[in-house]
Amino acid sequence: MFSLMERAKIRLFVEHALGQGNSVPMTQPQANYLFNVMRLGVGDVVALFNGQDGEWTCRVVDAAKRRGMVICETQTLPLQTPPDLWLLFAPIKKARTDFIVEKAAEMGASMIFPVQTEYTNSDRIRQDKLQAHAIEAAEQCGGTYVPEVANIQKLSAMLDAWPEGRHLLFCDESMVGQPSNLKDLPSGPWAIVIGPEGGFSDREREMLRDHPSSHAISLGPRILRADTAAVAALALWQTTLGDWT
Ligand code: SAM
Repeated sequence: MFSLMERAKIRLFVEHALGQGNSVPMTQPQANYLFNVMRLGVGDVVALFNGQDGEWTCRVVDAAKRRGMVICETQTLPLQTPPDLWLLFAPIKKARTDFIVEKAAEMGASMIFPVQTEYTNSDRIRQDKLQAHAIEAAEQCGGTYVPEVANIQKLSAMLDAWPEGRHLLFCDESMVGQPSNLKDLPSGPWAIVIGPEGGFSDREREMLRDHPSSHAISLGPRILRADTAAVAALALWQTTLGDWT
């Protein structure tokens, strides 16, 4: 029987199938972290997840400076997928963009889409770095799912090809001060849209408001920074329609 004493304290994301008896090689950075930094050795346990097979407790069978191997023993968590909620946001300064991705992963977004808007501060993102932030967030928060971070694309192009049936929660700063009123929103797949520091242009606001899938909302009596607005909208949606209910 799996005892509490054997619960792994360290969680790592791997790109390898997990299942009873599977051998999982550690990458060089993972081996360095586990065996040099955290001082784990042969016989110790580590928790692994890959975004598909849940979380597994795995035992170290090879621990070298630059390589290592673990064997999956027990599944400790099943895959827990979040509700079908996308986050669309316009990238801002690097540290705040990193924060948005990290928080979106923790708060249970299923996909993260950086979008270019007319007043977007930064048109370039490092998708690979942002994806790594989402992975780190899942490692830290005990999640077994990692939201994919898409490459940046134009908000207008996304809206033109919007998937039928996916509702849009348009966070509209021009509604500041009005009640947030999320009652009576339909269930189903959703996407939250957050603008950049400069807000949405009039043209974008019109496009978002007129979109057939759109529900415009206020996020309360104060104008929030874009990173705060993303977290606030995710919390509101999760408590109204998501998995916090
Ligand atoms: N520069 C804009 C202004 O002064 O009106 C503010 C933009 S705000 C920093 C960034 C984004 O956060 C907005 O585009 C909107 O999506 C969201 N946001 C912030 N506060 C909001 C509020 N009170 N209601 C709805 N959305 C809000």
